[in-house]
Amino acid sequence: MEKIAIVTGGSRGIGKAIVEDLARKNVKVIANYNQSEEKAKKLKEELEKENISIDIFKADVSKREEVKAMVDYTIKKYGKIDILINNAGINQEKMFQDITDEDWDNVIKVNLYSVFCTTQEVIKYMISQKNGCIINISSIYGINGGSCAVAYSATKAGIDGITKALAKELGPSNIRVNSIAPGCMNTDMNAYLTKEEWEEIKQETPLEKIGEGIDIAKCVEWLIEDTFTTGQVISINGGLVIT
Ligand code: NAP
Repeated sequence: MEKIAIVTGGSRGIGKAIVEDLARKNVKVIANYNQSEEKAKKLKEELEKENISIDIFKADVSKREEVKAMVDYTIKKYGKIDILINNAGINQEKMFQDITDEDWDNVIKVNLYSVFCTTQEVIKYMISQKNGCIINISSIYGINGGSCAVAYSATKAGIDGITKALAKELGPSNIRVNSIAPGCMNTDMNAYLTKEEWEEIKQETPLEKIGEGIDIAKCVEWLIEDTFTTGQVISINGGLVIT
Protein backbone atom coordinates (compact mmCIF):
# COMPACT_ATOMS: atom_id res chain seq x y z
CA MET A 1 0.00 0.00 0.00
CA GLU A 2 1.29 3.47 -0.82
CA LYS A 3 2.70 5.67 1.92
CA ILE A 4 0.80 8.79 3.01
CA ALA A 5 2.76 11.97 3.82
CA ILE A 6 1.84 15.41 5.09
CA VAL A 7 4.34 18.12 4.12
CA THR A 8 3.77 21.50 5.80
CA GLY A 9 4.63 24.58 3.76
CA GLY A 10 4.62 22.41 0.67
CA SER A 11 3.81 24.84 -2.13
CA ARG A 12 7.16 26.59 -2.49
CA GLY A 13 10.84 26.46 -1.56
CA ILE A 14 12.20 23.42 0.24
CA GLY A 15 8.71 22.06 0.95
CA LYS A 16 7.81 22.12 -2.75
CA ALA A 17 10.96 20.18 -3.65
CA ILE A 18 10.07 17.58 -1.00
CA VAL A 19 6.49 17.31 -2.29
CA GLU A 20 7.65 16.86 -5.90
CA ASP A 21 10.28 14.30 -5.01
CA LEU A 22 8.04 12.17 -2.77
CA ALA A 23 5.08 12.35 -5.16
CA ARG A 24 7.33 11.13 -8.00
CA LYS A 25 8.38 8.22 -5.75
CA ASN A 26 4.75 7.08 -5.40
CA VAL A 27 4.14 8.60 -1.98
CA LYS A 28 0.63 10.08 -1.66
CA VAL A 29 1.32 13.65 -0.53
CA ILE A 30 -0.90 16.15 1.24
CA ALA A 31 0.86 19.45 0.49
CA ASN A 32 -0.05 22.07 3.06
CA TYR A 33 -0.04 25.78 2.28
CA ASN A 34 -1.20 28.87 4.10
CA GLN A 35 -0.90 32.03 1.99
CA SER A 36 0.37 30.63 -1.32
CA GLU A 37 -2.85 29.18 -2.70
CA GLU A 38 -2.00 29.96 -6.34
CA LYS A 39 1.40 28.26 -6.01
CA ALA A 40 -0.21 25.22 -4.39
CA LYS A 41 -2.76 24.94 -7.22
CA LYS A 42 -0.04 25.36 -9.84
CA LEU A 43 2.08 22.64 -8.23
CA LYS A 44 -0.89 20.28 -8.24
CA GLU A 45 -1.56 21.05 -11.92
CA GLU A 46 2.09 20.60 -12.90
CA LEU A 47 2.25 17.18 -11.22
CA GLU A 48 -1.05 16.18 -12.86
CA LYS A 49 0.68 16.64 -16.23
CA GLU A 50 2.97 13.78 -15.10
CA ASN A 51 -0.10 11.75 -14.08
CA ILE A 52 0.70 12.30 -10.43
CA SER A 53 -2.04 13.32 -8.04
CA ILE A 54 -1.48 15.21 -4.80
CA ASP A 55 -3.85 16.81 -2.29
CA ILE A 56 -3.37 20.43 -1.33
CA PHE A 57 -4.72 21.67 1.98
CA LYS A 58 -4.86 25.20 3.40
CA ALA A 59 -3.97 25.39 7.07
CA ASP A 60 -2.09 27.89 9.21
CA VAL A 61 0.16 25.50 11.14
CA SER A 62 0.38 27.92 14.05
CA LYS A 63 -3.34 27.27 14.73
CA ARG A 64 -4.31 23.95 16.24
CA GLU A 65 -7.85 23.83 14.87
CA GLU A 66 -6.55 24.28 11.30
CA VAL A 67 -3.87 21.61 11.79
CA LYS A 68 -6.49 19.27 13.24
CA ALA A 69 -8.72 19.85 10.20
CA MET A 70 -5.82 18.88 7.91
CA VAL A 71 -5.04 15.73 9.88
CA ASP A 72 -8.75 14.77 10.04
CA TYR A 73 -9.02 15.28 6.27
CA THR A 74 -6.03 12.99 5.69
CA ILE A 75 -7.30 10.25 7.99
CA LYS A 76 -10.80 10.41 6.54
CA LYS A 77 -9.50 10.15 2.98
CA TYR A 78 -6.56 7.74 3.39
CA GLY A 79 -7.03 6.09 6.80
CA LYS A 80 -3.42 6.59 7.96
CA ILE A 81 -0.39 8.90 8.03
CA ASP A 82 3.05 7.34 7.55
CA ILE A 83 5.18 10.44 7.16
CA LEU A 84 5.09 13.95 8.61
CA ILE A 85 7.46 16.61 7.32
CA ASN A 86 7.36 19.68 9.56
CA ASN A 87 8.83 22.13 7.08
CA ALA A 88 6.79 25.36 7.34
CA GLY A 89 8.70 28.25 8.80
CA ILE A 90 9.38 31.98 8.72
CA ASN A 91 12.59 33.93 8.99
CA GLN A 92 13.16 36.86 11.33
CA GLU A 93 16.15 39.15 10.84
CA LYS A 94 16.31 41.62 13.72
CA MET A 95 18.86 42.97 16.16
CA PHE A 96 18.23 41.31 19.53
CA GLN A 97 17.36 44.65 21.19
CA ASP A 98 14.72 45.33 18.55
CA ILE A 99 12.78 42.07 18.94
CA THR A 100 9.37 42.87 20.41
CA ASP A 101 7.23 40.47 22.41
CA GLU A 102 4.98 40.26 19.36
CA ASP A 103 7.91 39.34 17.06
CA TRP A 104 9.05 36.71 19.53
CA ASP A 105 5.58 35.18 19.94
CA ASN A 106 5.03 35.13 16.18
CA VAL A 107 8.21 33.25 15.28
CA ILE A 108 7.75 30.85 18.20
CA LYS A 109 4.16 30.14 17.11
CA VAL A 110 4.92 29.56 13.43
CA ASN A 111 8.26 27.75 13.74
CA LEU A 112 8.11 25.90 17.07
CA TYR A 113 4.54 25.60 18.35
CA SER A 114 3.57 24.36 14.87
CA VAL A 115 5.95 21.41 15.23
CA PHE A 116 4.57 20.61 18.70
CA CYS A 117 0.95 20.83 17.66
CA THR A 118 1.17 19.19 14.21
CA THR A 119 3.21 16.31 15.60
CA GLN A 120 0.81 15.89 18.52
CA GLU A 121 -2.18 15.70 16.16
CA VAL A 122 -0.43 13.16 13.93
CA ILE A 123 1.27 10.80 16.37
CA LYS A 124 -1.92 9.41 17.86
CA TYR A 125 -2.47 7.73 14.49
CA MET A 126 1.18 6.71 14.10
CA ILE A 127 1.19 5.17 17.58
CA SER A 128 -1.86 3.06 16.81
CA GLN A 129 -0.27 2.03 13.48
CA LYS A 130 3.01 1.31 15.34
CA ASN A 131 4.80 2.93 12.45
CA GLY A 132 5.84 6.43 11.46
CA CYS A 133 8.54 8.75 10.23
CA ILE A 134 8.69 12.37 11.37
CA ILE A 135 11.19 14.78 9.84
CA ASN A 136 11.58 18.27 11.24
CA ILE A 137 13.28 20.91 9.12
CA SER A 138 15.44 22.93 11.49
CA SER A 139 18.51 24.97 10.46
CA ILE A 140 22.25 25.42 10.90
CA TYR A 141 21.23 28.46 12.98
CA GLY A 142 19.80 26.05 15.55
CA ILE A 143 23.26 24.44 15.78
CA ASN A 144 25.54 27.45 15.41
CA GLY A 145 23.32 30.46 16.08
CA GLY A 146 22.74 33.26 13.61
CA SER A 147 23.59 36.88 14.22
CA CYS A 148 20.44 39.07 14.14
CA ALA A 149 18.37 35.90 14.22
CA VAL A 150 18.13 35.07 17.93
CA ALA A 151 14.43 34.22 17.96
CA TYR A 152 14.70 32.18 14.75
CA SER A 153 17.79 30.35 16.07
CA ALA A 154 15.96 29.60 19.33
CA THR A 155 13.07 28.02 17.43
CA LYS A 156 15.39 25.87 15.36
CA ALA A 157 17.41 24.71 18.40
CA GLY A 158 14.04 24.01 20.06
CA ILE A 159 13.00 21.87 17.10
CA ASP A 160 16.19 19.81 17.44
CA GLY A 161 15.38 19.40 21.14
CA ILE A 162 11.91 18.12 20.25
CA THR A 163 13.47 15.71 17.74
CA LYS A 164 15.87 14.18 20.26
CA ALA A 165 13.40 13.89 23.15
CA LEU A 166 10.57 12.59 21.00
CA ALA A 167 12.80 10.03 19.30
CA LYS A 168 13.38 8.48 22.74
CA GLU A 169 9.69 8.59 23.65
CA LEU A 170 8.40 7.22 20.35
CA GLY A 171 11.12 4.71 19.46
CA PRO A 172 9.28 1.84 21.19
CA SER A 173 6.25 2.66 18.99
CA ASN A 174 8.45 2.24 15.89
CA ILE A 175 8.24 5.95 15.11
CA ARG A 176 11.48 7.58 13.98
CA VAL A 177 12.01 11.31 14.54
CA ASN A 178 14.86 13.19 12.89
CA SER A 179 15.81 16.76 12.01
CA ILE A 180 17.31 18.00 8.79
CA ALA A 181 19.21 21.25 9.38
CA PRO A 182 19.73 23.00 6.04
CA GLY A 183 22.50 25.50 5.38
CA CYS A 184 21.97 28.44 3.05
CA MET A 185 19.40 27.50 0.41
CA ASN A 186 18.22 29.08 -2.81
CA THR A 187 14.62 29.90 -1.78
CA ASP A 188 12.36 32.92 -1.23
CA MET A 189 13.48 32.98 2.41
CA ASN A 190 16.83 34.33 1.26
CA ALA A 191 15.51 36.58 -1.49
CA TYR A 192 16.77 39.60 0.44
CA LEU A 193 20.44 38.59 -0.01
CA THR A 194 22.45 40.64 -2.51
CA LYS A 195 24.51 39.11 -5.31
CA GLU A 196 27.65 39.95 -3.34
CA GLU A 197 26.30 38.25 -0.21
CA TRP A 198 25.47 35.08 -2.18
CA GLU A 199 29.01 35.11 -3.55
CA GLU A 200 30.46 35.49 -0.04
CA ILE A 201 28.40 32.56 1.26
CA LYS A 202 29.55 30.44 -1.69
CA GLN A 203 33.17 31.27 -0.94
CA GLU A 204 32.75 30.33 2.73
CA THR A 205 31.18 26.99 1.76
CA PRO A 206 33.68 24.16 1.15
CA LEU A 207 31.56 22.74 -1.71
CA GLU A 208 31.43 26.29 -3.18
CA LYS A 209 27.72 26.26 -3.95
CA ILE A 210 24.32 27.19 -2.57
CA GLY A 211 21.88 24.43 -1.63
CA GLU A 212 18.73 23.66 -3.61
CA GLY A 213 15.47 22.20 -2.31
CA ILE A 214 16.23 18.89 -3.99
CA ASP A 215 19.34 18.49 -1.77
CA ILE A 216 17.02 18.40 1.25
CA ALA A 217 14.44 16.25 -0.54
CA LYS A 218 17.06 13.55 -1.22
CA CYS A 219 17.86 13.36 2.50
CA VAL A 220 14.13 13.15 3.28
CA GLU A 221 13.82 10.29 0.82
CA TRP A 222 16.68 8.45 2.49
CA LEU A 223 15.32 9.00 6.01
CA ILE A 224 11.96 7.58 4.95
CA GLU A 225 13.56 4.41 3.58
CA ASP A 226 15.94 3.98 6.52
CA THR A 227 14.92 1.91 9.56
CA PHE A 228 17.67 2.52 12.16
CA THR A 229 18.16 6.29 12.32
CA THR A 230 16.33 8.29 14.97
CA GLY A 231 16.95 11.34 17.16
CA GLN A 232 19.55 12.72 14.74
CA VAL A 233 20.16 16.21 13.39
CA ILE A 234 21.50 15.82 9.86
CA SER A 235 22.89 19.06 8.53
CA ILE A 236 22.87 19.46 4.75
CA ASN A 237 24.99 22.54 4.24
CA GLY A 238 27.82 22.02 1.73
CA GLY A 239 30.30 21.95 4.62
CA LEU A 240 29.47 25.49 5.80
CA VAL A 241 28.97 24.13 9.32
CA ILE A 242 30.97 21.09 10.38
CA THR A 243 30.51 20.01 14.00
P1 NAP B 1 10.23 29.79 2.02
O1 NAP B 1 10.58 29.61 0.60
O2 NAP B 1 10.12 31.15 2.59
O3 NAP B 1 8.88 28.96 2.31
C1 NAP B 1 8.31 28.97 3.59
C2 NAP B 1 7.18 27.99 3.59
O4 NAP B 1 6.59 27.96 4.92
C3 NAP B 1 6.07 28.36 2.62
O5 NAP B 1 5.62 27.19 1.97
C4 NAP B 1 4.97 28.91 3.54
O6 NAP B 1 3.65 28.68 3.06
C5 NAP B 1 5.20 28.08 4.79
N1 NAP B 1 4.61 28.74 5.95
C6 NAP B 1 5.03 29.86 6.60
N2 NAP B 1 4.19 30.15 7.61
C7 NAP B 1 3.21 29.21 7.59
C8 NAP B 1 2.07 28.95 8.38
N3 NAP B 1 1.74 29.76 9.41
N4 NAP B 1 1.29 27.89 8.09
C9 NAP B 1 1.61 27.07 7.05
N5 NAP B 1 2.68 27.25 6.27
C10 NAP B 1 3.47 28.31 6.53
O7 NAP B 1 11.27 29.05 2.95
P2 NAP B 1 12.19 27.75 2.72
O8 NAP B 1 13.56 28.22 2.51
O9 NAP B 1 11.56 26.83 1.77
O10 NAP B 1 12.11 27.16 4.20
C11 NAP B 1 11.50 25.94 4.54
C12 NAP B 1 12.00 25.52 5.89
O11 NAP B 1 13.43 25.36 5.84
C13 NAP B 1 11.73 26.55 6.98
O12 NAP B 1 11.38 25.91 8.18
C14 NAP B 1 13.08 27.25 7.14
O13 NAP B 1 13.25 27.81 8.42
C15 NAP B 1 14.02 26.11 6.88
N6 NAP B 1 15.37 26.54 6.49
C16 NAP B 1 15.55 27.29 5.36
C17 NAP B 1 16.85 27.71 5.04
C18 NAP B 1 17.13 28.54 3.83
O14 NAP B 1 18.28 28.96 3.64
N7 NAP B 1 16.17 28.82 2.96
C19 NAP B 1 17.93 27.35 5.84
C20 NAP B 1 17.69 26.57 6.96
C21 NAP B 1 16.41 26.18 7.28
P3 NAP B 1 2.71 29.84 2.44
O15 NAP B 1 3.54 30.60 1.46
O16 NAP B 1 1.59 29.07 1.82
O17 NAP B 1 2.22 30.68 3.59
